[in-house]
Amino acid sequence: MSATQWMDRMVGFHRGPGEATPAMSAFGVKVERRKGMARRRQKQGIAMTETTERIVLASRPVGEPTLDNFRLEELPIPQPGPDQMLLRTLWLSLDPYMRGRMSAAPSYAKPVGIGDVMEGGTISEVVASNVPRFAKGSVVVGHTGWQTYALSDGSSVQKVEPRGPIQAALGVLGMPGMTAYMGLLEIGKPAAGETVVVAAASGAVGSVVGQIARIKGARAVGIAGGPDKCRYVTEELGFDACIDHRAPDLARRLAAACPKGIDVYFENVGGAIFEVVFPRLNPFARIPVCGLITMYNATSLTPGPILLPHLMRAILTKRLTFRGFIVSDFFGRYGDFMHDVSAWVGEGRIKYREDVVEGLKNAPRALIGLLRGENFGKLLVRVAYPSS
Ligand code: NDP
Repeated sequence: MSATQWMDRMVGFHRGPGEATPAMSAFGVKVERRKGMARRRQKQGIAMTETTERIVLASRPVGEPTLDNFRLEELPIPQPGPDQMLLRTLWLSLDPYMRGRMSAAPSYAKPVGIGDVMEGGTISEVVASNVPRFAKGSVVVGHTGWQTYALSDGSSVQKVEPRGPIQAALGVLGMPGMTAYMGLLEIGKPAAGETVVVAAASGAVGSVVGQIARIKGARAVGIAGGPDKCRYVTEELGFDACIDHRAPDLARRLAAACPKGIDVYFENVGGAIFEVVFPRLNPFARIPVCGLITMYNATSLTPGPILLPHLMRAILTKRLTFRGFIVSDFFGRYGDFMHDVSAWVGEGRIKYREDVVEGLKNAPRALIGLLRGENFGKLLVRVAYPSS
């Protein structure tokens, strides 16, 4: 099974087939339904007011995405076939990887095609089902994308276990939580007393990294954007220290927070923050390379002070271990992740914060903001409330 296939399975995947050519709109513009739609919908037994909305990739961004790169479309709600069910989206997860899918540059996963529904993990309720194991009213986690309804044959969605708020399956008990767990424990391997540094520390992945580091007896030092995020990271999440990367003199403050150097640097951001961290790495430090969000909107690589020969010499002389990973590399460990992290959440040893945006229409603006650091916690779109 490929990495992307596994990702699809982990969060589920289905893009509803057989949808009619949609009426199209710009954001906020009323959409006119096509002629002939009303009669067909009456035949299908769908109330006149019920349409589905979806957001498609209208064009590929150059640099920072703009609202013009997205297009809102409205179309009839699809009807489930004999072995299908109709899913109504309740929650959509917004994640940094979506910027990569908007680009045609080679990567570990295929890009979203122009005109295709934007990709995304979702929590949905089953509103009509011809799939015996998913009764109407079931709640499932899937990958049905930026749309209010989707069809599924059930093969790549999973029922959400009632372990707290259902949307946790998109965050701490889903893909971002597993990324933190696997990257830190399998690659970072923090030992008690060691120093673990993570940037984007108040976010979905970074917040879990630091809290697991603490559970393992390590010193957790976060880097985050702004005093509010830093206060949350230390006072609520219990990190030992947090440094505001927007304030001046980052290198001196990082050195003060890491008097014994850095043993594990969980790389979420790259760029200028990595350049400040790099000289503080201890011999035998481990660097799980999880994400490079500072570069996702970049149109070219800017040369920094770390030149390749210096990097190579440090890797050799300090015996550093850098390892890039994609969460899907660890699909076989899903059970371990759920066992441990759900217990830690239940015991209150892992806390998390959600940043909730209301309404599918606001997803493009929220994704643009995520890539600027405007979110505070796991970024979610509440697409609809459960029907009961
Ligand atoms: P977050 O919830 O942490 O949100 C992103 C955060 O990144 C922002 O809040 C901001 O935090 C920081 N950020 C954004 N732009 C910049 C910038 N230009 N410079 C510095 N910081 C910036 O997102 P996630 O927890 O979902 O993802 C964190 C990282 O993990 C990303 O790089 C993502 O791609 C990666 N990832 C990798 C996976 C894998 O399988 N390898 C899976 C999931 C995520 P602040 O304001 O504090 O700087």
